Amino acid sequence: MKIEIASGCGFCSGVKRAIKLAESSAGIDKEVYTLGPIIHNLQVVQSLEKKGVRAVDSIDKIGRGTVIFRSHGVQPEDFIKAKEKHLKIVDGTCPIVSRVQKLAEKLTEEGYSVVIVGDPNHPEVEGIVSRAKDAIVVQNPDEVKAVRKKRLGIIAQTTQTLSNLRAVTSQAMGNASEIKVYNTICKAVLALQESSCKLAKRVDILLVVGGVSSANTKRLFLLAKEINPNTYHIEGKDYLRLEWFKEAKKIGLTAGTSTPSWVIDEVVKKIMEVN
Ligand code: SF4
Repeated sequence: MKIEIASGCGFCSGVKRAIKLAESSAGIDKEVYTLGPIIHNLQVVQSLEKKGVRAVDSIDKIGRGTVIFRSHGVQPEDFIKAKEKHLKIVDGTCPIVSRVQKLAEKLTEEGYSVVIVGDPNHPEVEGIVSRAKDAIVVQNPDEVKAVRKKRLGIIAQTTQTLSNLRAVTSQAMGNASEIKVYNTICKAVLALQESSCKLAKRVDILLVVGGVSSANTKRLFLLAKEINPNTYHIEGKDYLRLEWFKEAKKIGLTAGTSTPSWVIDEVVKKIMEVN
């Protein structure tokens, strides 16, 4: 069996930055918290815990010390609450996500009704929604059909696919007299989607490695699965199944932007053992 790894898979710059900030904060303050897990990877969260960095789901659970905001970004209320509690704030919001938040504010100021293409329950989207007045979140073109406004401003969650943003925009065309669209999908995500889809075409099976709650990993899996039905989403080496490899000669491997390189290495090692 031959293994080929998609280019650009593994930690993106935003995730690397947030983890670095968390690790450096651990050595400075005695009480360090992240608002939500720093990334969608249990091992990384546990390793930070050993260094004294604990994940909490609300600022209300922090009495003192340092709070780290992860790369997805937070809502303005979280900044206010943290300041009121005199916490030290370490803002790990990815600059690309910050740009989308600013665009949501700008579109609102300019009088556009903001439409966000994304998952309404994802923290990144919640953070963007909180920057716009009465923002509407849609997951697909069907959901934008009922949105009738004079001026629409469309932006996307950074992990969306270009085809979905295009489809939503095209559907919205008949619903407004003016539409302004910003392609806010992260370039690293787009490049990874492209390299993974190309890889899916030339391998017998494709493994997508990453956390089950990672938005970009899930999207990567769905995109690749459309091209190659023998595509499997696994969280790590322990999820591999022998029967997948019976007829396979070429194995492709890709991973979400929050998957540590050592998790990818472990999967490769296990496949070699099977081989
Ligand atoms: S995927 Fe892109 S937008 Fe999201 S954290 Fe990484 S670099 Fe930032």
